[in-house]
Amino acid sequence: MTGWLAIAGLGPGDDRLVTPEVQAVLAEATDVVGYIPYVARIAPREGLALHPSDNRVELDRARAALEMAAAGHRVVIVSSGDPGVFAMASAVFEALEGRLDWQALDIRVLPGITAMLAAAAAAGAPLGHDFCCINLSDNLKPWEVIETRLRHAARADFAMAFYNPRSASRPEGFAKALATLLQECGPDRLITFARAVSTPDQHLTTVTLGEATPEMADMRTVVILGNSATHRVGRWVYSPRSVR
Ligand code: SAH
Repeated sequence: MTGWLAIAGLGPGDDRLVTPEVQAVLAEATDVVGYIPYVARIAPREGLALHPSDNRVELDRARAALEMAAAGHRVVIVSSGDPGVFAMASAVFEALEGRLDWQALDIRVLPGITAMLAAAAAAGAPLGHDFCCINLSDNLKPWEVIETRLRHAARADFAMAFYNPRSASRPEGFAKALATLLQECGPDRLITFARAVSTPDQHLTTVTLGEATPEMADMRTVVILGNSATHRVGRWVYSPRSVR
């Protein structure tokens, strides 16, 4: 039996946004590994073992998946959105460091629709010009790094997408981020809060930075800040394609 490992993105929530490529590997898999709510999206079937695990154990989860693939299983690690965006793909490559045996395995990364793209599409085209995305969680990097990146991105006039904006365990970080952005970009800059995009709970709000409050975001929200030219047209928000 030849094992393999696929690291797959399930998209933002709607099953229609799971790519056919990802559906095909899931149909062939013997094992699905991932964070509990993502594994919960996989329909159980005979011959498929589901291995849900808690958050923050990414490296252990990656090693367990590699062990199973090395033993001949057909393993899919599932992430939400895209597996390369603040998700499991990097954890798998980190686990491969120094492991020549695992490096010889059949490993594929299968892209998915990441939250910021689904959110931007729902809002209009706020990422229609140059943009960057920043993870606001300080679990894996010091807050000073986040703050420096926010200031530099603002000064370079990038539109920005923020992942993991605010959690119960660190509610103060997003308030600090908003204060920094208000200082750099001024009160009139548009900011969109896109919650649970592509699910029945989807909710989008666009306000100015002057009106934004930390409570507008939670861990199911991706936040999109416009650049200096981003504006409203009808019920949409977009960033022009050119800079003059
Ligand atoms: N790999 C994922 C991101 C994982 S980090 C991706 O590519 O989308 C988790 C963060 O993603 C959340 O805190 C939130 O900021 C964002 N997110 C994921 N799914 C979302 C959705 N359906 N709607 C809004 N934000 C979402």
